Amino acid sequence: MRHRLFGIVVIFLSTLNLSPLFGQDSTVVFDDGHHGYETGSIYELSEPELILMLDSLFESGTKDSCAFVAIRTRLDELNAMNPKNQFQSGFAFWPAHRFYGVWNTTILFPYRDSLYKSEQITELDLSPQISGDFTYPFSGVVTSKYGYRDSAFHRGIDIDLNRGDTVRSAFGGMVRFAGRGGGYGNVVIVRHYNGLETVYAHLWKIKVKPGDIVTSGQLLGLGGSTGHSTGTHLHFEMRFRGVAIDPYFIIDWDTRKLNANKIELIRTRYGYAVHPVGLCTHLVKKGDNLSKVSQRYAVSIKQLKAWNGWEGYVRLTPGMMVRIAPPEEQNGTY
Ligand SMILES: [Zn+2]
Repeated sequence: MRHRLFGIVVIFLSTLNLSPLFGQDSTVVFDDGHHGYETGSIYELSEPELILMLDSLFESGTKDSCAFVAIRTRLDELNAMNPKNQFQSGFAFWPAHRFYGVWNTTILFPYRDSLYKSEQITELDLSPQISGDFTYPFSGVVTSKYGYRDSAFHRGIDIDLNRGDTVRSAFGGMVRFAGRGGGYGNVVIVRHYNGLETVYAHLWKIKVKPGDIVTSGQLLGLGGSTGHSTGTHLHFEMRFRGVAIDPYFIIDWDTRKLNANKIELIRTRYGYAVHPVGLCTHLVKKGDNLSKVSQRYAVSIKQLKAWNGWEGYVRLTPGMMVRIAPPEEQNGTY
């Protein structure tokens, strides 16, 4: 689907001869090395396909181009034709709008439960073509992880820094919130094209404003200790529709790389489990146990035992590989 879409984008743009409007970088975004796609007009595309296309254009910074306007006009037409459209308050071209339908620059997390209650599984494409490569927001020691800490739940990770250190955007996207946010102190929230939102809290100085388009690695602010904070550090969160996800489910903090380019977010009673698409094993790290692995990937302990050929009590030790998908899936027959 994505390949076909990028193909259509390439052809569509070349038809309109918009190439002078694109910088050199944008070629990389749309050209995945395959040519000879079927030609397509935007009138043959569905609304989700159009929105995806728009997101792609948006990423390349061409929001004033004819292509952008044409797609928006077509989406407005589709909106008008379909009164059942769940996000009908005029089409807006915010990143990952199809997942949200809401763009709010004054409330930290304006998403109602109902937005995600209906869907149990959502696939997110974290590949670099969508939001750029992942950037570690600040290259410091992680002093506190996600999860229960004393009696409170810690919805992010803490990274040690000195006042004035550069805090960078984890992916490309648009700044949705930049200002005072209660206990967060000075906080920046970025909506990414891949559907995630990231939160950067306790900043000393904010260097962006809502609506700013940022690339992965771009300066967002300077580290500090504003809000409820003991000592200077960066409090970093990853969220989807306002629900926090353990960043360790998405990023391998040792290699500082993504665990997988495609993930499935699965609603569970604990929040979101993250299933890496195409990844069949989990490498056991310090502190892992069967119940943690089960929650993380939304598979039962019974399933894990069956897939790994285990019986009775199982103790996981760092370095072990645990199968997290049934064997037939691993053989590629699924
Ligand atoms: Zn924190």
